[in-house]
Amino acid sequence: MAKIIDGRATAESVYAGLRSEIAELKTRGLTPGLAVVLVGEDPASRSYVRSKDKMCRELGLHSVKLELPAATTQRELLGCVDELNRDRAIHGILVQSPPPGHIDEAAIIRALDPEKDVDGFHPLNVAKLALGDPTGFVPCTPLGCQRLLAEAGIVVRGSHVVVLGRSMIVGKPLALLLMQKGAAADATVTVVHSQSRDLVAITRSADILIAAIGRAQFVRGEHVRDGAVVVDVGINRIDDANASRGYRLVGDVAFEEVAEKASAITPVPGGVGPMTIAMLMANTVKACRLRNGERTA
Ligand code: NDP
Repeated sequence: MAKIIDGRATAESVYAGLRSEIAELKTRGLTPGLAVVLVGEDPASRSYVRSKDKMCRELGLHSVKLELPAATTQRELLGCVDELNRDRAIHGILVQSPPPGHIDEAAIIRALDPEKDVDGFHPLNVAKLALGDPTGFVPCTPLGCQRLLAEAGIVVRGSHVVVLGRSMIVGKPLALLLMQKGAAADATVTVVHSQSRDLVAITRSADILIAAIGRAQFVRGEHVRDGAVVVDVGINRIDDANASRGYRLVGDVAFEEVAEKASAITPVPGGVGPMTIAMLMANTVKACRLRNGERTA
């Protein structure tokens, strides 16, 4: 049976480090500030925004939560981004995805000050990740996966990592991050997606398999070689008449079946999810440090 990689415990240890960093920044009169903007009523997005705001407050960060009506126009949203770009108390800005259909999300991301783009989606930050420039912001979920592997003592250097999924939020930046030179990186990375041939043969050759495809329990025992490490990024709702809400959350990995073969595995919930918020907090602290002329790792 696989060792369970505990994302909640790892996130707690990240917060312990951040608390002392934040305390030290405050002695110098600096309080990192994060603004989270939500447009519309999507219940999952509302709940993500609430947890981000709550975490900011728990850590003693300055937190601004803007909940705008679904009818907010592109122009109004751009105006809001512009104001936050100019607000000196704000170091990080996140516009919760997905916005309503009439909003051009890519244009909103391009309008963000790249130095406040703690989600790491602005083209300048994507380029910095590709270049290996440490002054950029790496998207929070890939960063969380890397940190989780590092803290669990998984050897990434020289390993064959197979990333299932090529989105700009998870798969692509994760592949760039793990193939970079450096700690918890230096991997040989293969990316597979919906058009890949011989998917099972490729995933079975992975030392570390990372699933980010948004298909409930897609990865089965047959996809995994004995002893591989499996990281499950997926968050999917499946109907469950026994659950109070009528559904439960599962990952992209069939947990029980795969845990029989893997040497280590992340659960859903309690794996990558808590690390994503922890990395958002870490990126906000980094943004504050960079603005104040500090170099960061
Ligand atoms: P996207 O839908 O943007 O991308 C999914 C990717 O998976 C695409 O590249 C797609 O290929 C590929 N894919 C889909 N079906 C298959 C298939 N049958 N075989 C092979 N590849 C396939 O999803 P995201 O990257 O945004 O999210 C992935 C999952 O991670 C979701 O469950 C999401 O909820 C979760 N997530 C979790 C986070 C966390 O904090 N834990 C944060 C962000 C996301 P193609 O490009 O060819 O279409």
